[in-house]
Amino acid sequence: MPLPDFIQPRDGLATLIDGKRAAGALDAAVAAQAAALSSRIGRKPCLAVVLVGDDPASHVYVRNKVRRTEAAGLISQEFRRPADMAEADLITLVESLNADPDVDGILVQMPLPGHMDARRVVETIDPAKDVDGLTAVSAGRLVLGSHGLRPCTPSGCVWLAKKALGDISGLHVVVIGRSILVGKPAALLFLEQNCTVTIAHSRTRDLADVCRTADILVAAAGRAGMVEADWIKPGACVLDVGINRTDAGLVGDVAFEASEKIAGHITPVPGGIGPMTIAVLLANTLKAAATRAGEKILDPLAG
Ligand code: NAD
Repeated sequence: MPLPDFIQPRDGLATLIDGKRAAGALDAAVAAQAAALSSRIGRKPCLAVVLVGDDPASHVYVRNKVRRTEAAGLISQEFRRPADMAEADLITLVESLNADPDVDGILVQMPLPGHMDARRVVETIDPAKDVDGLTAVSAGRLVLGSHGLRPCTPSGCVWLAKKALGDISGLHVVVIGRSILVGKPAALLFLEQNCTVTIAHSRTRDLADVCRTADILVAAAGRAGMVEADWIKPGACVLDVGINRTDAGLVGDVAFEASEKIAGHITPVPGGIGPMTIAVLLANTLKAAATRAGEKILDPLAG
């Protein structure tokens, strides 16, 4: 089988996994499925995004989400609220979106202002519309391996690893980071693919030695350039989830220039895992719309 155009072999350097192109391919698959579903159910899948406050990075993320949602032929609803909004009013807004039959997916952009309990807000989201996969019900379904919506960023990691490597079962995956958003679900999603998984974190001893045992290394610590080239097993697949703002611009958790000489595959930052997150969000919105309508679709993430 020919490689997809987002898997780019290079002479003397790790094969580049171009997440921006990959996300474009996934968006196109979602768009095709969304068009077919829309004609069957008489309306387009709809994603509601709630943004509270004025965190500049969140505004950029939400702008991108809205643009990509509309480009894929889905409906985007945006709810912007001031930072001093009461938590009870945010919960009332989420409940109204739960009750709206035309809304398929609900995303509350994090972080929320400090006076709010983010967990309490997330738990208000109807699990059938939990396109971020962050409610306790979605997390429980992931642990059980039962049907449900999976967190976007780690799903993007698994999808890219499978596109790059083919069969990943039995490979050793080391995930650096144990957050609810990325590290823990990444570990469970790779386990679901029959990988052997190690979760490393800030208390892990001999982290470099642990990383050197990885066939697939997922870096999600949020520490600029923390993973050095000599932490990488030659030929390993390195998925850099980190997004760190530095004076030199956006960088990942992996020291890219030295690491691309050792790794077999590598994702850049920016343009690697980041764009995949929105692609999976759209795929999840499509799935949520199909499930709510009792329709079967070709899962864009399965292909
Ligand atoms: P987090 O701060 O919630 O979790 C970081 C995890 O890394 C923790 O579990 C911690 O134990 C571990 N860690 C921190 N320092 C470490 C160290 N020195 N050694 C080993 N482990 C260490 O962050 P998060 O929400 O999981 O995000 C992680 C990174 O991924 C951040 O840079 C974030 O911006 C980025 N991110 C990217 C996307 C995307 O779309 N690409 C999405 C979500 C998060």
